[in-house]
Amino acid sequence: MDALEKIKLTSLNAPFEAAEDAGRLQNCAATPIELDQLKARFPVTRAHLPNGQTIPLLKTMQTSLCERDCYYCCFRAGRDTPRANLTPDELASAVVRLTRAGVAKGLFLSSGLAGNGVRAQDKLIATAEILRGKYHYREYIHLKIMPGAEKAQVFRAMQLADRVSINLEGPNEASLSRLAPHKSFFTELLQPLKMIEDIRRSEPPHLAWNGTWPSSCTQFVVGAVGETDLDLLQTTAQLRDRFRIARAYYSNFSPVSQTPFENLPPANPWRQHRLYQAFFLLRNYAFDFEDLPFSLQGNLSLEKDPKLLWAESHLTHAPVEVNTADYTQLMRVPGIGAVSAHKIISARKYGKIQDVRLLAKMGIPSTRAAPFILLDGRRPPYQPELF
Ligand code: SF4
Repeated sequence: MDALEKIKLTSLNAPFEAAEDAGRLQNCAATPIELDQLKARFPVTRAHLPNGQTIPLLKTMQTSLCERDCYYCCFRAGRDTPRANLTPDELASAVVRLTRAGVAKGLFLSSGLAGNGVRAQDKLIATAEILRGKYHYREYIHLKIMPGAEKAQVFRAMQLADRVSINLEGPNEASLSRLAPHKSFFTELLQPLKMIEDIRRSEPPHLAWNGTWPSSCTQFVVGAVGETDLDLLQTTAQLRDRFRIARAYYSNFSPVSQTPFENLPPANPWRQHRLYQAFFLLRNYAFDFEDLPFSLQGNLSLEKDPKLLWAESHLTHAPVEVNTADYTQLMRVPGIGAVSAHKIISARKYGKIQDVRLLAKMGIPSTRAAPFILLDGRRPPYQPELF
């Protein structure tokens, strides 16, 4: 089986049809029109990099063979599904071919656990070493750290990657045991996240391939085993404080056939969205946990943005005076973010802001902001949203 056909079976992107395009990719001699068709047939993930760039990212596995039986996973042991295993050489050369063809411009590489975490990690590292060493590949690489990886492996992965990550899957040991009973929350997953931060703190960054230690992140499966939004956000906050993870990904549960969870309902799509909104309020908008409108059960509203709910209970009767409020106060107003708060503060140097149309020119949606602000002591007119 050609390496590109194997990638079809190990892909973490949307399903794609690479097999019949494999021949054309061998020599990268496609015309521009063919290339467009090729890209359309070979979907990759549009990924936002930490530097703000957006790239087509190839998300794939070294192998889709796995000895574990995580309850939510399509690659779990015993599930009847076509599988493939790529050698480091095969995978690295396929990545280079796809890069030269303009299909992908970065790699997200994970793996099933064939053997154990240490063996799987060795293969991921070998693939990255071939890319960086033999092919002088300078594109973005996100490497997964496997459960139970050793510290020397974590160090080597960090030398080769732009980002490293370990999926915690659940926000605590109890949740993880219901999702993946053979993974150990503390020793297999949390420990490597700690190793990453220990290495960043103790080793000089010039040892990394581009002179900077990679950022780290984690991912949670949301909505399968009753974990709350408060659990997820509190664990994320602790990981940010203690291990300086850049962010967490909240991945909505979706049932997979032939798994113990196949009859569970999918998570509400709004849940993931609200979690990200709350995460950014905590990270970028100086919100505290006490500010977030959790229900008694510890969940966010699916219907309304948490910032809007906070403003409705705190600003409706105490609106923010746009002409005197500081940066943090402005950021509390729905519709005002970091960029628009700075624009307001700059505009105030040239006179008072008295007209809501000036805010609209700064990109602030007046219907969102108007109920919660004063412009030179007056409430701006606004049309309440009916729906
Ligand atoms: S270890 Fe990873 S690939 Fe294997 S079943 Fe669990 S989540 Fe899936």
